[in-house]
Amino acid sequence: AVLSRPVLSATVPGRHPLLPVVGGGEHVPLLPAGSAPYADLDVAASAPALAAVAEAVTAALPGYASVHRGAGWRSQRTTAAYEAARDTVAAFVGARDGDVAVFTRNTTDALALLAGCVPAGERVVVLDCEHHADLLPWQRRGPVTVLPTEATVAATLRALGAELVRSRPALVAVTGASNVTGEALPLDEVVLLAHAAGARVVVDGAQLVPHRAFSLAASGADWVAFSGHKLYAPFGSGALVGRRDWLDEGPAYLPGGGAVTEVSVAETRWAAAPHRHEGGTPNVLGAVALAAACEALAALPDGALEAHERALRARLVEGLSALPGVRLLRIWADSAGPTGVVSFTVDGADPGHLAAVLSAEHGIGVRDGRFCAHPLLARLGVPGGAVRASVGVATTLADVDRLVAGVAAYLREGP
Ligand code: PLP
Repeated sequence: AVLSRPVLSATVPGRHPLLPVVGGGEHVPLLPAGSAPYADLDVAASAPALAAVAEAVTAALPGYASVHRGAGWRSQRTTAAYEAARDTVAAFVGARDGDVAVFTRNTTDALALLAGCVPAGERVVVLDCEHHADLLPWQRRGPVTVLPTEATVAATLRALGAELVRSRPALVAVTGASNVTGEALPLDEVVLLAHAAGARVVVDGAQLVPHRAFSLAASGADWVAFSGHKLYAPFGSGALVGRRDWLDEGPAYLPGGGAVTEVSVAETRWAAAPHRHEGGTPNVLGAVALAAACEALAALPDGALEAHERALRARLVEGLSALPGVRLLRIWADSAGPTGVVSFTVDGADPGHLAAVLSAEHGIGVRDGRFCAHPLLARLGVPGGAVRASVGVATTLADVDRLVAGVAAYLREGP
């Protein structure tokens, strides 16, 4: 009797969505009647909105007013919602006492903001495996060292340690999870190395915080940047959270109303962070949406998100690896615990063609190209790009199986 008892499906990671999202169930035009609904395996680019996010935005829509400078009741209520969202977002990434959360448009915006606040003349060190958002702001600002990624995590950490001692940078900018492979250097070790050399650490958390528990306090990292639209909230909201000092001293990112305490024709007194960097009327609904997403993810049982995505990734890797001519990209031979992002090439196939066929003939959305990480793709020997599949809270094992079957069908028909 015990053996025949059905396993509770919810206990099988990946079998069902972990959290409800809005949308889904659509059919790709021109696919035969009865085809399976569209499977979105491009979550790393932008994730579907959670139902909880849609509810929070719907509740906040009626009766909002401009924040911070209105005496009216609606303005005060909206200001309170905006500032409460800030606290929620800060708590979600384990902000310490004294840390500050600045609302931004996305990760790109957050990293560009921090780049403007790194003390003048100080060096930034970054690896060549970063997304352009975590490369170009530092390159433009200078001085910067773009360190070549080595073949193993151990060798990369050694090279990083040596570079920190050699060039004594003020900041190390590092990805929390690669948008190409889901891999990352062990953050704790990067932080230890950096702090020992007197450098601070900013984590590009765009592909990390939607998929793994992350804490500034626990990791010791100094800042984290992330995007709402990758965290199951709509476009146009993101955050930079972390140490206050550079953000209080750096130039206002967006000069304008709200970023100042006093202005005369001769002189401007800038507000402290976060307001210093949030000139103009802010994206209150974006902040409310982002906070709702943070709350929903934080309310999941410990480990559930990671277990769900690990199961999906394992199935994806197993299925794709078994197909002839399919090569999975990997930055490091010895990395551990990648997130649910898998990029691959198919011998003789154009990634753009494969991605288009998967969408048009199989109803599966993936991404192809160089994923805004041109130096990394060149380093991995695929300057022509690859195909990327990525999973999230709403992905199921069935979605992943359909992708593997779609690639297998493509191979049978000949690229
Ligand atoms: N960093 C990583 C690792 C990313 O994957 C992305 C987006 O793809 C970004 C930064 C930039 O994010 P956004 O376009 O939301 O600014």
